Amino acid sequence: MNPAYLEKLNDRQREAVEHGIGRPSSEIGGPLLIIAGAGSGKTNTLAHRVAHLIVNGADPRRILLMTFSRRAAYEMTRRVKSICRQVLGNQAAAIGDALTWAGTFHGIGARLLRIYAEQIGVNVDFTIHDREDAADLMNLIRHELGFSRTESRFPTKNTCLAIYSRVVNSESSISEVLKSSYPWVSAWEEQLKQLFAGYVESKQAQNVLDYDDLLLYWAQMVSDPGLAEDVGTRFDHILVDEYQDTNRLQSSILLSLKPAGRGLTVVGDDAQSIYSFRAATIRNILDFPKAFSPAPADVITLERNYRSTQPILAAANGVIDLARERFTKNLWTDRQSEQRPRLVSVKDEADQANYIVEQVLGNRDLGVPLKQQAVLFRSSNHSGALEVELTRRNIPFVKFGGLKFLDAAHVKDLLAVLRFAQNPRDRVAGFRLLQMLPGVGPQTAGKILDTIAADPEPLFSLTEIPSPPKTGDHWTEFVTLLSTLRKAGVGWPEEIASARAWYEPHLDRIHEDAGTRKADLLQLEQIASGYPNRERFLTELTLDPPDATSDQAGVPLLDEDYLVLSTIHSAKGQEWRSVFMLNVVDGCIPSDLAAGTTAELEEERRLLYVGMTRARDSLDLLTPQRFFTGGQNALGDRHVYASRTRFIPATLLQFFETTSWPKVTANAGDRSARQIRVDVGARMRSMWK
Ligand code: ATP
Ligand code: MG
Repeated sequence: MNPAYLEKLNDRQREAVEHGIGRPSSEIGGPLLIIAGAGSGKTNTLAHRVAHLIVNGADPRRILLMTFSRRAAYEMTRRVKSICRQVLGNQAAAIGDALTWAGTFHGIGARLLRIYAEQIGVNVDFTIHDREDAADLMNLIRHELGFSRTESRFPTKNTCLAIYSRVVNSESSISEVLKSSYPWVSAWEEQLKQLFAGYVESKQAQNVLDYDDLLLYWAQMVSDPGLAEDVGTRFDHILVDEYQDTNRLQSSILLSLKPAGRGLTVVGDDAQSIYSFRAATIRNILDFPKAFSPAPADVITLERNYRSTQPILAAANGVIDLARERFTKNLWTDRQSEQRPRLVSVKDEADQANYIVEQVLGNRDLGVPLKQQAVLFRSSNHSGALEVELTRRNIPFVKFGGLKFLDAAHVKDLLAVLRFAQNPRDRVAGFRLLQMLPGVGPQTAGKILDTIAADPEPLFSLTEIPSPPKTGDHWTEFVTLLSTLRKAGVGWPEEIASARAWYEPHLDRIHEDAGTRKADLLQLEQIASGYPNRERFLTELTLDPPDATSDQAGVPLLDEDYLVLSTIHSAKGQEWRSVFMLNVVDGCIPSDLAAGTTAELEEERRLLYVGMTRARDSLDLLTPQRFFTGGQNALGDRHVYASRTRFIPATLLQFFETTSWPKVTANAGDRSARQIRVDVGARMRSMWK
């Protein structure tokens, strides 16, 4: 009997699902590689394979399933359960719970390390440092060793951590990594070695592991043949999705667990390899078949795309066809459509944001929920203008792959300056702001705010307050700033420029990675200058009260409808009916930072391919003629005049509908002076007396 779920698969998918299952010997099958292009059903096939294994008697507790993110693992478990339900009915409910070994490499590593802690000399109570904790610790050691940046231009804590991580994950030496990826810091090789030694010692003394340790310790553990066998035999089947983005450590772990490849299935697409900056290597997937002796792995390729319409697929194929190296073949689909992907030229990022909001709302009116739509971008800081526009229009959104622009500490700091200038009685803004001044703690800040609040003309009292001890010139500068901001006749864009100029030196003191944060502030200034004045800008950002049904302001509930904003990296493996890509221009994709070597450029091309292949029914690539950049240019302009990405040369234009979008200008609102006719405030207060 064939279960119904097999009928829905095509022949190749089915072959992959049934590979090595149902043989009379009940012996577990040999290694299998499924290598195929985007949207060909790899992940879907993997879910079916897991379900089919279980339906055929495999013990779900002995299946190890590794995906790229926890979200993906959760989704995979859900799908396995629902496929199993078709055959097993209500019995399937327990399967999700029994599939306990589904997760990311890091998550699984953490669990195994606790189980085997004693045998590898690790204290079982270890805690795990996330990237931020790890960077903080790195910083601490950096200061202790006297390599602090201000004196010597030593690399920042994040660069140090990135180098450390790269060395660990690629199993190469520090000098190799410096030479290939960080040539500008190679003079610091000796100091970096000392730093990393100190970092490792400190982690051990504190009994903490960082993310890299989870893989590193795991790899060390299974380099012992006895332990490798012990761990390996816990699992009858090991299945890995997105294998093209694994690194050397991950593949060596896998091969130690299953040296003969029995029960091992990996799935991936070399054309979508986009994580080499985290030491992922395409060689893992390409060398997989040969990694086993005596018999190589079986390889199954899939060629039919079920996700995208023909015009979208044709354009994506066009882009990846120009790649220097191609391994997987082109895909085909029978999803016909008249609509080619759009290449939309807009004037700038404000227009880009307007265009997207209009389209997204239009789509929603046509029955495509926000959740079925996504906006993708090369780097997390590209979406600032759009986020402000979405916030202003009260369109709920979630962001993957970076902090929301308006939630970032430094953006909030600068907004606090403006809010305080707008309203010196705003205590929250005041607290935030005053405590940026060296020498001012919560108590002093409180006192200052009390004095200001008691005065009918708050700014006047501010100028009268004597400089608090230890604030030095900072106090005078602060008072001068506020007087400037509140002075009549100072134009709005200049106001924010002075606020930023005042804040930047404080930023340097408060935050380590001041460079990228400054770029965000410039961008905020740029966005703000599109509004008529300070009051309008601040009001529009906070106009709509958070939904009373949400338990956290601004965070949509799971069953609420919301638009997805995501970096392309974090969009891996997912799909939406409608996809928009921001800043599809040279300088953004390929990123200026990655335009160095051919290998880097090729990875950028694959990134564009990954983004485009997320779309099911419609795809819009936006090309602003000017886009904002944090960097300087010779003319002192912070905008770059941009041109369409080089990955879509003229020969590919036939695949697109090219259009442009006109500017929609915001109405400047006037507020005329009014006299109090009814004192509503007094009435409100009297309600509580
Ligand atoms: P990516 O490379 O982006 O990770 P993928 O190869 O993993 O893509 P899936 O996400 O598994 O592809 O599938 C893409 C879409 O095609 C999904 O909506 C899936 O449900 C659908 N699909 C896959 N196989 C079939 C099939 N045999 N019949 C109908 N739809 C299918
Ligand atoms: Mg997939």
